[in-house]
Amino acid sequence: MKKILFVTSEVYPLIKTGGLADVCSSLPKALTELGQDLRVILPKYPSLKTVGDVHFLCSLRIDNHLINIFETTIPDSSVIAWLVDCPDLFNTEGNPYLDAQGLPWANNAERFALFCRVAVEVAMDKVNRNWKPDIVHCNDWQSGLVPALLSLEKNRPKTVFTIHNMAYQGLFPVQSVYSLNLPGQLWNPNGLEFHGMLSFIKGGIAYSDRITTVSPTYALEIQTPAYGYGLEGLLAHRSDYLVGIINGIDTNEWNPDLDPHISQHYNVHSLHEKQHNKAELQRRVNLPVNNNVPLFGLISRLVEQKGIDMVIECLPDMVDLPMQLVLLGNGDKIFEQRLQNLARLYPDKIAINIVYDESLAHLIEAGADVFLMPSRFEPCGLNQMYSQRYGTIPIVRKTGGLADTVVDTLPESLANHSATGIIFKEAHAGALLEAIKRAMLLYSNHTTWQQMQINAMHRDFSWRSSAEQYLALYDSI
Ligand code: ADP
Repeated sequence: MKKILFVTSEVYPLIKTGGLADVCSSLPKALTELGQDLRVILPKYPSLKTVGDVHFLCSLRIDNHLINIFETTIPDSSVIAWLVDCPDLFNTEGNPYLDAQGLPWANNAERFALFCRVAVEVAMDKVNRNWKPDIVHCNDWQSGLVPALLSLEKNRPKTVFTIHNMAYQGLFPVQSVYSLNLPGQLWNPNGLEFHGMLSFIKGGIAYSDRITTVSPTYALEIQTPAYGYGLEGLLAHRSDYLVGIINGIDTNEWNPDLDPHISQHYNVHSLHEKQHNKAELQRRVNLPVNNNVPLFGLISRLVEQKGIDMVIECLPDMVDLPMQLVLLGNGDKIFEQRLQNLARLYPDKIAINIVYDESLAHLIEAGADVFLMPSRFEPCGLNQMYSQRYGTIPIVRKTGGLADTVVDTLPESLANHSATGIIFKEAHAGALLEAIKRAMLLYSNHTTWQQMQINAMHRDFSWRSSAEQYLALYDSI
């Protein structure tokens, strides 16, 4: 049994802005189920949604900040979560990283540097809990300074740093190094410096004992200029210590046979029941109730990464086809507006929901026939796995975790019952439209389509095997 301190800025359902929160909830649960002694540590934002007992654990002082640590559990689990409460810095409601205008909070460097320093104090048991981890597992830039700071400690725990998305690096002006009181030894071109800026993510990449990312394909991609954002050289240099482990999904949360958010439960033996969810979804989003046209779903942050611009470009052609689209997402204002304009032009074809809505997300997975995920890059991606579990055929671009989790429908993969989706290569609207047309053609053949659905629903995306790979990695250090 290992003692693991799991450091993250998001844990579902306490706080979530994206897939990071899902992973940082499911992986700790899976590791705990495998018998590990684990604590998750995260900031206590005002918008944190705790349920049940939250009690004071200890306090500490760093610079002139008084910090309290509270203990609770991740809801519906026995996983202990330690909440770092520093009201001086974490006093803003809403999104953990961005203000209401969508701009990063001005003191993000200070906020997450302090969080990292607290995590280091806990990792070295300087808070006297009589609990010192063997492994400190950090996630994304918000925790990137932890491996760097720990590298200076004697008798330190081993460190693992997981990259969930290279696009977010935590880059700050050089002045931060001084105002954050970071040790001078870390400030050099092999350390935290990145072209004259302070890079949090580089702390994780340069100093941790092992680096992981969330799919084998993405592990290769980030060693190339197109995906590495200037860190491809360092990643290639550390490639012996870099491994891709595909995320699992929470198979209780995402189970069409038990899902409380959908109108009719179904499984691989009762696939015909899925159409009731389609009708319910069409009613809910004010599209004509019609079982004969394929209903496309899309759930995503509306940002360029997700290929939303390609979808917008395709929409005028898509509406000429017998199909419907329901989209759920929010993000860049320009995408939100363009999508809403198109929905006003084609109210019988396109339904746009600019909100964050977990419950509608479940109904879309259950009710849609096809799921669109044309990402420019996708470290792992979750919705393509949820879709397969719900018998909703994903259309994905061949990148990152999408390439690793979806099997393209070709004569061979249909023959050996492995086809689960539709894959296209080039990141442009024409290629996406071709894939959409392929999906329409396949959909028109009921037997083929049903076989693809069955193949998809049989896939095992549970966390167990991924958690076992992480355990093997911990053991290998
Ligand atoms: P990323 O982490 O890059 O946003 P992922 O596919 O890994 O992408 O995870 C996204 C998660 O956030 C999924 O669980 C998805 O269902 C959810 N999600 C994104 N936007 C919304 C929304 N508007 N409403 C509900 N869930 C959403």
